[in-house]
Amino acid sequence: MRYYPLFFDLQNKHVIVIGGGPRALAKVRLMLKTDARVRLVAPLLHPDLAVLAAEGAIDWRQKRFAPEDLDGAALVYAATGLDDIDGQVAAAAKARQILVNAVDTPHLCDFLTPALVDRDPIVVAIGTEGASPVLARGIKAHLDGHLPEHLGAFARFASSLRNRVKLRLGDETQRRRFWDAFFRSPARHFFLAGEAARARDAAETLIEAHAEAADARAGFVWLVGAGPGDPELMTLKAQRVLQEADVIVVDRLVDERVLDYARRDAQRIYVGKAPGKPSIKQSEINAILIEQAQLGHNVVRLKGGDPFIFGRGGEEVAALEAAGIDCAVVPGITAASACAASARLPLTHREVTRSFSLLTGATASGVADHDWHALARAGQAFGVYMGVGAAGHIQHQLLVHGMEPATPVIIIENGTRDNERIIETRADALSAAVKSLDIRGPALIYVGLHWDQAGIARPAKVESFVHSGTIVALPQRTELDASHLHHVAQGGMQ
Ligand code: SAH
Repeated sequence: MRYYPLFFDLQNKHVIVIGGGPRALAKVRLMLKTDARVRLVAPLLHPDLAVLAAEGAIDWRQKRFAPEDLDGAALVYAATGLDDIDGQVAAAAKARQILVNAVDTPHLCDFLTPALVDRDPIVVAIGTEGASPVLARGIKAHLDGHLPEHLGAFARFASSLRNRVKLRLGDETQRRRFWDAFFRSPARHFFLAGEAARARDAAETLIEAHAEAADARAGFVWLVGAGPGDPELMTLKAQRVLQEADVIVVDRLVDERVLDYARRDAQRIYVGKAPGKPSIKQSEINAILIEQAQLGHNVVRLKGGDPFIFGRGGEEVAALEAAGIDCAVVPGITAASACAASARLPLTHREVTRSFSLLTGATASGVADHDWHALARAGQAFGVYMGVGAAGHIQHQLLVHGMEPATPVIIIENGTRDNERIIETRADALSAAVKSLDIRGPALIYVGLHWDQAGIARPAKVESFVHSGTIVALPQRTELDASHLHHVAQGGMQ
């Protein structure tokens, strides 16, 4: 495309036409459709131009062309039909950096005049880069026949509704939907049939209908717990919501088998940690949820386990609330619960385990701190999420705070999945077990629970990581070196 079409504001600008014959008349007529001030320079006038000059529609300077005639012009038409004079006009315009059109002499033109279908303010400009004015006229005739006579007035009518629409329909998507409907609505038919009052009523009804529907159609976010992996451990509600989703924002921790239950053509957006890629920030995930909901989508935020247990679901609900987006939470079976079930390990047991705590081993800034003294006391039971990387730290803290070294520890890696591993060990061998057995997670570490406590047989699939040594005199110093402890644990294994 050599010539770029654009709409040029001619209000209060001067357009100068040089020439007084039929070519000049054609350009003057065209320019009189605009808000430009038209000045004509010619010694003699075509009779129709003379009429326009007499009416004051154009400002006629009765004289031969001189370069100064172009001063102050926004556009110039060289329309004398005389090559040498049009050439002089074009040269003078270029010297003054004024855009010029020499009629029918493309090589002297800065711009070409398109064929127009004029339904002001709706204007269709047709250009052929000079290749075929006849074709342009054919296209113009075709469009003229298709665009209603009052289309321009209808566009102004639409424009007069703009403020009202903005007031009633809060967001851009709502407004886009309204305008889509408006241009096909009865309001259009009434208006084009000349019934302006009925058109206005119809438009008002349509605005109200969209304002009401907007609430129903506004996006919604479901925070859904997908459970620990095995899709059968998903709730019926989670399945239903997945079937109705437009968009699914998925954590990496979510088992692929769970997604078989999702609507096939739902858009999937993967967030969360992927090996080798930088993880997406929580604020970015929040922004994705808000953006998708604002598009009017039914969004499912699918998370491993339960959304509210180390799933950052609380932050997402808060962000959605702040953005005025409705959401609901579908709970999922959390890893501590699912892994325990898989290993037949009761989390509480009458008379033995009266409480069970959920802990995280890691925080954003590193290993998590806890009331280790309380946790180390006899009879405590807890499960540690995200504890693999912090196993050494956890073991160290528990032991220096007085935990009985033989306290049972059960590690369940990839619980409920095909590659599930259950390892039984003890508090003083936790770190060694993680390292020696190459546990990478996801894994749940249970401390203070054992099958014996409940009189349940240890399942056959359990591996034992036996730590034969006992640490007799454990220094009660918090600064005890973890590597020293690790060394002791390793030594004990031999
Ligand atoms: N919201 C999730 C927890 C996310 S934090 C839930 O409720 O389960 C991630 C941690 O969950 C992992 O580090 C691991 O400790 C635990 N986890 C998740 N899925 C697991 C699985 N299938 N087996 C063992 N642990 C799992």
